Amino acid sequence: MATAVAPVRSAEGPPSAADVVVIGGGIVGVSAAFFLARKGISVVLCEKGVIAGEQSSRNWGWCRMTLRDPAEIPLVGESLRLWRDMDRLAGADTGFRTTGIMYLCGRPDDEARYEAWLVHARQHQLESRMLSAAEVARLLPEGVREWPGALYTAGDGGAEPGRAAPAIAEAAARQGAIIVTGCAVRGVETEAGRVAAVVTERGRIACSSVLLAGGIWSSLFCASLGLRLPQLKVLGSVLRTNPLPGGPEVSAAGPGFGFRKREDGGYTLSQADATIADIVPDSFRYLAEFLPTVKAEWGSLRFRLGRRFIEEWRLPRHWALDGASPFEAVPVMDPLPSRTVLDEAMRNIAAAYPIFRGATIAERWGGLIDVMPDAIPVISGVERLPGFHVATGFSGHGFGIGPGAGRLAADLVTGEASALELAPFAFSRFTGTAPSPIS
Ligand SMILES: Cc1cc2nc3c(=O)[nH]c(=O)nc-3n(C[C@H](O)[C@H](O)[C@H](O)COP(=O)(O)OP(=O)(O)OC[C@H]3O[C@@H](n4cnc5c(N)ncnc54)[C@H](O)[C@@H]3O)c2cc1C
Repeated sequence: MATAVAPVRSAEGPPSAADVVVIGGGIVGVSAAFFLARKGISVVLCEKGVIAGEQSSRNWGWCRMTLRDPAEIPLVGESLRLWRDMDRLAGADTGFRTTGIMYLCGRPDDEARYEAWLVHARQHQLESRMLSAAEVARLLPEGVREWPGALYTAGDGGAEPGRAAPAIAEAAARQGAIIVTGCAVRGVETEAGRVAAVVTERGRIACSSVLLAGGIWSSLFCASLGLRLPQLKVLGSVLRTNPLPGGPEVSAAGPGFGFRKREDGGYTLSQADATIADIVPDSFRYLAEFLPTVKAEWGSLRFRLGRRFIEEWRLPRHWALDGASPFEAVPVMDPLPSRTVLDEAMRNIAAAYPIFRGATIAERWGGLIDVMPDAIPVISGVERLPGFHVATGFSGHGFGIGPGAGRLAADLVTGEASALELAPFAFSRFTGTAPSPIS
């Protein structure tokens, strides 16, 4: 079942021309549209379903610096600054609150892993630190288990996923962006080798720049243009409880559970290390790039072979732009959550924090996460197709980084982003890998 998303008013249809077309109305696309419109650029955002219908409303709502890849730390820092200021900047109500995020030391190698990451944190003068057992007990009281310590960042926080991207989309519209929902982009037309237009299910939009912020659909969109983007999908499962008075304020992850207190007083609950990876044709297509990650993450992935293999096998990778594309066939991807993963999460949290024994479940949902081989997004132009830009592959942490990534993508499109800022996120970083026999 899909989780609730605030509705966003759509324009009646797309205009015939704009400077920039943003494909995808998740947190990254709406943030990019907002920052483009603030620059006075004419921008249209096309969303095949509803704003934030996919990952951007289905996530835990964590906005964290903790345990981020060192290459992303400057961008996450900027993003957290934007989150804190977004309600004022955009006149939006995103529900962002600074709550602190804590990773409990629950497994034998956790402390060493967290200490290793703190080396990077110190280089960037982050406030993240290890907590003692007593400090953990103070911040997370009423547990039955004593944790030896935790990695903690007081400045991390969370926003309300059901309303943050919709609020930013409304703010973008107030700045002049045209937001069109129920409008899949089928593909791109070129003239003299560069972007000239996009073709949507509701007509053509002439434009000189495109930003693909298409989440889990980005690899297929790129394939239709003859561009190889090694990206896979994994399933996250989440539940929310009804309001639970007296529960912890801090967000935390421990062995077999992770939670955030919501504004409504309930908890968003899941497991950090229990994603399901369906085996699909892309698993083989991108095997070479993903093999090192699969080996490193072996313990936290649950593989599954089922009907998704057949569904994706049947998907075309090229189509004529005057007929339906695979994008309009699925306006909102709404996968079933794993009951097993959620039942385990509920059992684990209730065993560690008995207050959760009284929690009642209001809703369960699933969400497909777009992952890259190095778990770092692509925010980049594409050398082979001038005017085409990509912001995707946020690998399970794009909600927190979304406003900063949207700002960077807007600067990329207008040529204002510095090479240094963009360097870690280049599209070209995967082009050296040998393609698999499945094209
Ligand atoms: C269960 C779960 C838990 C997560 N927890 C967290 C968390 O706590 N913190 C965090 O930072 N991140 C988290 N994430 C990851 C985060 O939600 C994503 O990284 C982020 O939302 C990605 O935003 P996006 O805008 O790139 O993509 P999306 O939100 O997926 O949006 C892409 C949009 O593009 C549209 N689209 C695609 N193709 C087309 C087309 N051809 N035409 C028109 N529209 C198109 C889609 O319909 C979709 O709405 C989680 C994700 C999941 C699923």
